[in-house]
Amino acid sequence: MTVDLSKFVASIQDYPEEGITFRDISPLMADGQAYRQATEQIVKFAKEKGVEMIVGPEARGFIVGCPVAYELGVGFAPARKKGKLPRETVRADYTLEYGGVESLYLHKDAVKPGQKVLITDDLLATGGTIRATIDLIEQLGGIVVGCAFIIELQDLKGREKIKDYDTLVLMEY
Ligand code: 5GP
Repeated sequence: MTVDLSKFVASIQDYPEEGITFRDISPLMADGQAYRQATEQIVKFAKEKGVEMIVGPEARGFIVGCPVAYELGVGFAPARKKGKLPRETVRADYTLEYGGVESLYLHKDAVKPGQKVLITDDLLATGGTIRATIDLIEQLGGIVVGCAFIIELQDLKGREKIKDYDTLVLMEY
């Protein structure tokens, strides 16, 4: 039996700013069956792509990607904000949905040249975060074979930034 995953997304009006509707996936993660179902859908996609490594951006990309990595028996590397990774890193900058510039970092040995990488995150909005994560992996010579999200906010057109990459989304708003 499958569940309707959209029932496990909470929509919060005017958060974090007036006029924004925040889609909160924590009810989905809090439900064992819904979390497993979402994970299994991404695992299936990852198997089709021959994924060898998963990279997820801080912080909900970890929650989506780690159970997939465990199930596939592949590694997981976190893409993190400034000052969080202790060893040598590569860096990519991006513009935030709510304004400003942010940077993401990845350890230089997180991805090997030629390795097939899946990127996971909870949500695709403007696409800045995923684009920066792709840039980090490609700086290291990795091959991004797919991007997987629980939710896509279609109005924000993030998909246009990743149109050359196979993308799985479980729910659209
Ligand atoms: P983007 O860089 O595509 O504009 O924004 C996506 C990133 O911001 C993701 O890492 C995601 O976790 C976070 N984000 C932006 N808006 C939302 C939202 O409405 N809900 C959730 N859960 N995350 C969001």
